[in-house]
Amino acid sequence: MPDTFKNFVAGEWVAPATGEYFENRNPADWNDVIGRFPRSGPSDMLRAIESAKRGFARWSKTPAPIRGQVLQRVGDLLVARKEAIARAMTREMGKVLAETRGDVQEGIDTAFYAATEGRRLFGRTVPSELRNKWAMSYHRPIGVAGLITPFNFPLAIPTWKMFPALLCGNAVIFKPAEDVPHTGHLLVEVLIDAGLPPDVVQLVHGQGSVVGRAMIEHPDVPVISFTGSTETGSIIGATCGKLHKRLSLEMGGKNAMIVLDDADLDLALDGVLWGAFGTTGQRCTATSRLILHEKIHDRFLTMVCDRAAKLRLGPGLDEKTEVGPLIHEEARQKVAAYVDIAKKEGATVAIGGRIPQGDKRLECGWFYEPTVFAGVKPGMRVEQEEIFGPALAVLKVGDLAEAIRVNNDVRYGLSSSIYTRDVNSAFRAMEDLENGITYVNAPTIGAEAHLPFGGVKQTGNGHREGGWEVYDFYSETKTIYVDYSGTLQRAQIDTYET
Ligand code: ADP
Repeated sequence: MPDTFKNFVAGEWVAPATGEYFENRNPADWNDVIGRFPRSGPSDMLRAIESAKRGFARWSKTPAPIRGQVLQRVGDLLVARKEAIARAMTREMGKVLAETRGDVQEGIDTAFYAATEGRRLFGRTVPSELRNKWAMSYHRPIGVAGLITPFNFPLAIPTWKMFPALLCGNAVIFKPAEDVPHTGHLLVEVLIDAGLPPDVVQLVHGQGSVVGRAMIEHPDVPVISFTGSTETGSIIGATCGKLHKRLSLEMGGKNAMIVLDDADLDLALDGVLWGAFGTTGQRCTATSRLILHEKIHDRFLTMVCDRAAKLRLGPGLDEKTEVGPLIHEEARQKVAAYVDIAKKEGATVAIGGRIPQGDKRLECGWFYEPTVFAGVKPGMRVEQEEIFGPALAVLKVGDLAEAIRVNNDVRYGLSSSIYTRDVNSAFRAMEDLENGITYVNAPTIGAEAHLPFGGVKQTGNGHREGGWEVYDFYSETKTIYVDYSGTLQRAQIDTYET
């Protein structure tokens, strides 16, 4: 009988009121059951919200530097448990151990950054236009923050949301993706063990369309942060718009790497393999388009195909594995469907395009061969739509201007990359690529925790995670005027001689 897990509500681990559970299985081996997790209902969410309101009343009055000390301990515990969490995450989500270790490290970096922010959270003091009067602003906590997260970074993405939200004095309710509840459980254990007071964090497992929805529709959860698909983001955006909630959306991408004819091709090759096939292509920043200058197109395409065809598929827990499985069967079917679409639209499948055959180790997992589409033209569906799997669309262009046009002509705008040795080309790209992130001589992935992360166009709604900007998202700014003149001074009306 597999382990049965619980929600964390009102300061204790509790079974869901529904009495229902769902099974969570290893995507590299569907016979391996990780556990049974609560299929919670709206009443579980309502209890969590009531508890979080109590937690907020206390935590919002805890001085920010003290909140920072709790996050410091969270970071210390993540360091101590890094290997154990990484292994559990690989078993649950499939990506290779080096990547799940990196995922935990991102959480550690985010915790330590948040800890130091407890002694900053700067407001501003600015000159008043009137005499004997001070004018200033400061950050205030908002309330209960509802966090909805996807499967692909089971620890890092929740920490990007949770740690700044907590540091700013909010209570949080965490609804992890159905595919990665175990990592969510391990993260909440860390927070509790680090001494976060009761009621400040709640963990409610279950379906997004049930418990996520109950949270979003509840008026006492004024802040929502979501990372996931563009479709779900639209639904959440509509509800939050009606209810005037503060909402951060982080959604899809169709990220391109541009390789110019003067680039270091060996460097670009390492970059594209890591960008396109790392995390089995299941990153919102994955390199899913490769835009090649015509002078190096044929040569570089051959280099990519030769290496990509040799990438070693397998369970992520095997240290020799380079590419793990997809998260579930629907994800694998989606990649297969795009292979058919690519062929119908006139692209060629240069390598891959099938479920691996004849390898016993891969028979019980959601594996798919790294796939390269050649001869892709702008506007084809494989060029425009997010596949979220190990599939790379290769395009040929005549010059940098055309490369930039192709990069920009999609509805998403998360990440982009250019390989060149020419400083003028690099700066032209930095200025004209319509993305929230641009890498020069590095692939489209590799965000650092202390810099803003997010995209333009339909990737997001203008907010940034990470770095200093996220602290504005999780705070209200209050402006304060103190008039110590002892008389009524009217702004914009009373004036003074200089
Ligand atoms: P992905 O394809 O990356 O899993 P989804 O958008 O389906 O992206 O899911 C991301 C998160 O959103 C998950 O935690 C999921 O449970 C949640 N979710 C899905 N549908 C809804 C919804 N209608 N309301 C709130 N949350 C949802």
